[in-house]
Amino acid sequence: MQYYEIAVVCPLFSTLTYGEPAENPDRIRVGMRALVPLGSRLATGYVLGGADPAEVERLAGQTTIRRIVDLPDQGPLFPANMVELFRWVARYYHYPIGEVVRTALPGGITAGSGHRLRLTARGREERQVFQADPKYGQAPWLTDLLDKGVLEGAPVSRLWRSRACQRKLRAWEKKRLLVIEEVLAREKNRGKREQVLYPADCFADLFSTCRDIDELLSQLEKSMAGPVSRAEKTLLERFLSLYRQAGNQPVSRRDLNRIYKGAAKILARPFLSGVLVNARHRVYRTPFGDRPPFIARPEHLAPEQEEVLARLRPAVAKGEFARFLLFGVTGSGKTEVYLQAAETALAQEKSVLVLVPEIALASQLEAHFHSRFGPTLAVLHSGLSPGQRLDEWQRIMAGEARVVIGARSAVFAPLEHPGLIIVDEEHDPAYKQDDGLRYNGRDLAVLRARFAGCPVVLGSATPSLTSFYHARNKRFTLLAMGSRVGGQDMPLVKIISLARAEKSRSDLFFSNELIHALEKNLAERNQSLLFVNRRGYASFMLCRDCGHVVRCRHCQVSMTLHRQRDILICHYCGFTLPTNIICPGCHAGRIMGLGIGSERIENEAGQLFPHARIARLDSDTVGNRKKYLALLGAVRDGDIDILVGTQMIAKGLHFPGVTLVGVVLADSGLSMPDYKAAERTFSLLSQVTGRAGRGERAGQVLIQTYQPDHYAIAFAARHDYTGFYEQELAAREQLCYPPFSRLVNLRLSGGEEGRTKLAAERVATFCREALAPGAGLVLGPAPAPIALLRDRHRYQILLKAVRMAEVHDLLDRLVQVGSKLCPAGVRLAVDVDPENML
Ligand code: ADP
Ligand code: ZN
Repeated sequence: MQYYEIAVVCPLFSTLTYGEPAENPDRIRVGMRALVPLGSRLATGYVLGGADPAEVERLAGQTTIRRIVDLPDQGPLFPANMVELFRWVARYYHYPIGEVVRTALPGGITAGSGHRLRLTARGREERQVFQADPKYGQAPWLTDLLDKGVLEGAPVSRLWRSRACQRKLRAWEKKRLLVIEEVLAREKNRGKREQVLYPADCFADLFSTCRDIDELLSQLEKSMAGPVSRAEKTLLERFLSLYRQAGNQPVSRRDLNRIYKGAAKILARPFLSGVLVNARHRVYRTPFGDRPPFIARPEHLAPEQEEVLARLRPAVAKGEFARFLLFGVTGSGKTEVYLQAAETALAQEKSVLVLVPEIALASQLEAHFHSRFGPTLAVLHSGLSPGQRLDEWQRIMAGEARVVIGARSAVFAPLEHPGLIIVDEEHDPAYKQDDGLRYNGRDLAVLRARFAGCPVVLGSATPSLTSFYHARNKRFTLLAMGSRVGGQDMPLVKIISLARAEKSRSDLFFSNELIHALEKNLAERNQSLLFVNRRGYASFMLCRDCGHVVRCRHCQVSMTLHRQRDILICHYCGFTLPTNIICPGCHAGRIMGLGIGSERIENEAGQLFPHARIARLDSDTVGNRKKYLALLGAVRDGDIDILVGTQMIAKGLHFPGVTLVGVVLADSGLSMPDYKAAERTFSLLSQVTGRAGRGERAGQVLIQTYQPDHYAIAFAARHDYTGFYEQELAAREQLCYPPFSRLVNLRLSGGEEGRTKLAAERVATFCREALAPGAGLVLGPAPAPIALLRDRHRYQILLKAVRMAEVHDLLDRLVQVGSKLCPAGVRLAVDVDPENML
């Protein structure tokens, strides 16, 4: 018998050993799912490899090793080379290894899983126990089960709808009369295929080089029998334009039909059916059914792009682990560098992984990559349905997709031979997952490159402090691009002190200077962006009489006023209140909205410029990607004069028509109780500033603030990254914050405050006793800045690690005893390298 090491999905930190399945034991492969017995139930696990013989011998002396029950999939779900990564992740983030693998895999795999009932030997003998049941004793399904010994499929799903029935079945299972097995669905590969049209081989060149439809037709008529009818000509013209738009890629018949009704009939005529070929192809579409726009390859590289690629290409060709930090100002053309480095990797028969912070950003980068790599591109992001996600996953597994672009979880994409890994906007906090497995996609990308033996490129206009520190210390190779591709100057930035600025409209958030600049920009028919850090109308509600602030009943945070929807919303848990409430503090006063939000700025801009076309872009107005892309399209087409938005407009967007950017209030993030507040403010302001003047016309930026002298704001206004870096680094060193230490946040949460606090004290004492002096500091426990969230009280203990290895040892022991230190109802979460300190 062969034995295997299985990572079981359960709160266990180590793997378990099981024997081969009774049926088809030679089907088993690393990366497959396995259904295994765990205690009295069945659980899902993943095959990590053969078991260690010493471990098998040790176990065999103590107990009988149980067997794998079933292998639900046809083949592996991840390549064997990822096992090492999973082990590392489980150790580093102190998270159960089975849960690590489950988090890494796409959700669609388990969609549709159901249950199977199987009688045990005892159940077969004691039929009368079942039949004596007053409710189900005579039910047809039970008779069926007793006759056949198993029951599965739709009849079981129906039983599962009744809680009472489920409870009964569980009770019988407890008495060992039957077993309830989890059945995992076997999903079919549902590749999205469509009818497409493309020119016959002998005409392909003609279609891509002809000047226009007339030239095309006259050439075609030389080799094909004419004459051509008007309808045929029009249809061919439409086809040609779609074909060109898609970068000479096949055209979907559905798209052609949309712009030419009744195309099918005309296509069937002899002339066109000789010119165009019909086929079924996989067609790439965004989740909303649109084809991404085609973006042509630039004719020449800019000198800095050339220099950077001269260093990247050989590294990719060499195929060894190497770390690069691409520090390129906004508009310096980093995307083209990624694309050409990726081409080098593909030429080596390797694949490429590209991480982007979130869907919002993916769109433009996605279009670039799709234009260049077409059918070999796979996209993984949260906008996909589980089925689409699984589909992409399988295309990657099969080696059909060799360029993968996705949000942070794509770092686990099942690539067999990565030849290059790219992390765009590497400083973005969205790379950190904030619950469950709290990993950082950027850090794992570096790790994955190390395991795969390939270069990794982290790119940003404002690198994270830690990455830049590594570049200064030569752990990363620094590649810099200091100028914009088109030679445009960086925009002129002016800081407006709100405390001193002239304001003729004291009721509004706009200084006179900002109003005048907007007026002038409107008159010149240019576009403007207004950046606000928060969504909603007013960020807090205050009682005029007693000063009470309305807080969420379930979270210790203030409620935000959304005036269009006419409600107060908690941005943390979604709890809502009507806007016409009497002050809950004094039960008398009327409450009013204070503070800034995007909805309010949109409203004020409307009052100031009633004739301007104003739109707002935040998660309230663009709930889905379709609306988001539509709004971006409107801005690009010049249909919008002033765009008000939150961070969603700050990142990675390229609007050539925008010449004025107004930051309405720059300081809103600075007061956060978080050591990264300055870094985040600096990088956000730099990103927003970078939106201006990316086209022909020069850009101007106005930053309104109450803290004009704050270094994060002052350096951002001067486009001085290194200046900011030096000052911030000195501050970090003084307080021993990263990169001079590593942080681990231990979060305790529970429904009852007393118990939570007690658990926090015990955990802190455990850490103080276990940690050698000099290995690190244990701070706390203290109530978390948001002390109540979704009805759970929160405490935290911060570990500042100087010698990380010893802190890891401590955490290993802590998670083992964690459940003993915490009374029932209190949860302990370990957050290594926390991003969010609230
Ligand atoms: P970044 O990501 O560095 O801010 P982008 O990659 O978005 O900059 O590039 C800015 C713009 O310059 C894009 O519209 C891109 O298509 C264009 N661009 C990039 N490289 C070139 C080039 N070599 N020639 C012409 N245009 C280019
Ligand atoms: Zn709440």
